[in-house]
Amino acid sequence: MLFKFTIIDQYQPLLSHFKGNEFITFTYFNSYNKTFTFALVNFEGSLNNKLPQIGPSIFSVMSGLANEHKAINLAQGFPDFDCTPDLKKLVSKAMENGFNQYAPMPGIMALREKIAIKTENAYTAIYHPETEITVMPGATLGIYATIAALIKDNDEVIIIEPAYDSYIPAVELAGGKAIVYEMAFPEYKIDWNQLKKLFNIKTKMIIINTPHNPTGTILSSEDIKKLEKLVENTDTLILSDEVYEHIIFDGYEHQSVARYPKLANRSIIVSSFGKTYHTTGWKMGYVLAPANITVKIRKVYQFMAFAANTPIQFAYTEILDRADLFNELGQFYQNKRDFFRQAIKNSKFKLHPCNGSYFQLLGYDKISDLNDLEMARHLTIENKLASIPVSAFYKRKTDHKVLRFCFAKSEDTLSKAAEILCKL
Ligand code: PMP
Ligand code: GLN
Repeated sequence: MLFKFTIIDQYQPLLSHFKGNEFITFTYFNSYNKTFTFALVNFEGSLNNKLPQIGPSIFSVMSGLANEHKAINLAQGFPDFDCTPDLKKLVSKAMENGFNQYAPMPGIMALREKIAIKTENAYTAIYHPETEITVMPGATLGIYATIAALIKDNDEVIIIEPAYDSYIPAVELAGGKAIVYEMAFPEYKIDWNQLKKLFNIKTKMIIINTPHNPTGTILSSEDIKKLEKLVENTDTLILSDEVYEHIIFDGYEHQSVARYPKLANRSIIVSSFGKTYHTTGWKMGYVLAPANITVKIRKVYQFMAFAANTPIQFAYTEILDRADLFNELGQFYQNKRDFFRQAIKNSKFKLHPCNGSYFQLLGYDKISDLNDLEMARHLTIENKLASIPVSAFYKRKTDHKVLRFCFAKSEDTLSKAAEILCKL
């Protein structure tokens, strides 16, 4: 932590006060603007380190590097275009109307009712707004609250890799043990017979994610049926990360676990308005689960955030009436996927299939021997194009020489990125 002071003559005594102070030390003087900089001395007591293996998230690292080197940022997953102006007007309207205090802990009822209707229309599943739907500040918190509430010391949680980066830390912070299953490369399919071998009496939860970040694969109804068979007669819960539920292509239907009553009964579904409405910065999501599971999650969540942003909840409540916005999202992103893939089809990169999400995986083994982290750094610094190394989604940092590119970008950005990729 740095403090800056411009020292004028009468403050000279202040400077001598800070010099040699046991909490603050003088670090340097900028003679150009006459600024002294002081730094807090590090705390010297012993500190717990709850995530010793974990550094800053790869998304922060690569976005930071992209900014530093003025690179096109196809790394962190967020759109470079704005949400519909109607949504912003609705947030302002709610603020102007005085909806500026705490929302009810599980979310405003009108929003929960709309989520119930949308879920029923999409998946013919009925979630009761009072007891089975909880609005939270983002899907990441939904995942965290779910795991914190349901996982105890030594419980095992099966994580299918490559996997979104928040799952393992959430499990470990809850005292659980992450049991990792790596999908076979290059198909990134789940071999359910192999995965079954990881199951035992301690398996408390399995986390699935469809459409999948980072691979762009989707689970089929056969996959879900195999999962159903696997957990039958066990106490294993399913945490189903469905934040990309509407970003699915080529006529495929999203296989929400909500469609399968026997699974839904033991599942916690997490979704995110950020992905659906191009509003990742608003951090708003929701959790669907049967009442007896929801009660446990809410008990913990009430001490994490208590409630989510009120005016934004009012805005989503109204915009949910516009079914076109989420029903047309798949085609919208499919066009972007096709545009990007077409633009790089003559490059030396290997294009992996992408049936959902807004990520395209590209293999670069014909281009470089660098490992994927070095390659991502090199591309950002030297070629001004940022991506995410897929090894970051593996506990063992498995490197197949594949990078993830986010195509939630304007055609102009995608063209510029493609131009760079085609030159390599
Ligand atoms: N799950 C997956 C698979 C994601 O990709 C993301 C983030 N993009 C999240 C969860 C978190 O979503 P949110 O921003 O709503 O926390
Ligand atoms: N989910 C986004 C991605 O995969 C980023 C989320 C984050 O920055 N934590 O890129």
